[in-house]
Amino acid sequence: MAESIGKLSRTRAIMKKYGLHAKKGYGQNFLTDLHVLQHIVDAAEITKDDNVIEIGPGLGALTEQLAKRAGQVLALEIDSTLIPVLQNLLAAYHNVTIKEQDVMKADLPALIKSEFKDPNKPIKVVANLPYYITSPILIHLLSTPVHWDVICVMMQREVADRLTAVPGTKAYGTLTVAVQYRMQARLAFGVSRHAFVPQPNVDSAIVLLTPRSGEIQPQPVSDRLFFRVVRGCFAHRRKSLRNNLRALLGKKSDFLPVLNDLGIDPQVRPEQLTIAQFSALTNALAEAGWL
Ligand code: SAM
Repeated sequence: MAESIGKLSRTRAIMKKYGLHAKKGYGQNFLTDLHVLQHIVDAAEITKDDNVIEIGPGLGALTEQLAKRAGQVLALEIDSTLIPVLQNLLAAYHNVTIKEQDVMKADLPALIKSEFKDPNKPIKVVANLPYYITSPILIHLLSTPVHWDVICVMMQREVADRLTAVPGTKAYGTLTVAVQYRMQARLAFGVSRHAFVPQPNVDSAIVLLTPRSGEIQPQPVSDRLFFRVVRGCFAHRRKSLRNNLRALLGKKSDFLPVLNDLGIDPQVRPEQLTIAQFSALTNALAEAGWL
């Protein structure tokens, strides 16, 4: 039996055999640590009952580990040169489908319907994400009308810290709110830069997103207004909430009574607000006619 794809010696041999070079523009840093690969599959708690979507299979190191444990794996890869390589390397795994696809342009609900034998089984996303596009991919996933049972993804440590941040910290911002608005975020484990070929300049971490146990209370009147307020409040992080709101709503808007009613000090910095407070603020501003 061939060695696992994720073994460093095998990865090197594959790249040599197919004349491949990691493409920086596609964020290609291949994982070459079997322990980490298995740890990812464990963290996502993959079972034969799961439909798994992998974004960016690369040479198939993670795909192979997923195939051994999942019911079905749908792997979406943008780099057309890797498609025949993946098809070759993973030919023995009949539960894997490889598609040439830019995930940002993917109609994920349609793919789930057409590619999975039983689309009603749990849907999990597992990926070593390309660094250059981590946040847009996460936002794309979370704004797609699909119930994700688990999103288990590798990213730069710094982005992982933003996703899992709590109010009052430097890392807490628009991305934190956008993600935690829908999902519970937990840092699963850190991964050294030495686990990749080629080696990136930064360390990584795995973040585990699972559905929130309860909805945000109060629910915002609309997602659009909620994110308008959140983006506006974080526009100038060093400024007070009051100054950010003034910039967002216009100099003449008299929103201080709204803050007062909510018990929010206008002098706090935006990162002090919880998601529930952003939601309450959105609703109160909308009701007062300031939005
Ligand atoms: N999964 C492999 C591994 O762990 O070794 C490769 C991970 S590498 C960090 C990211 C992969 O995502 C690359 O294979 C890259 O070509 C692919 N990729 C980049 N942008 C993409 C996009 N928009 N849609 C789908 N795949 C993409």
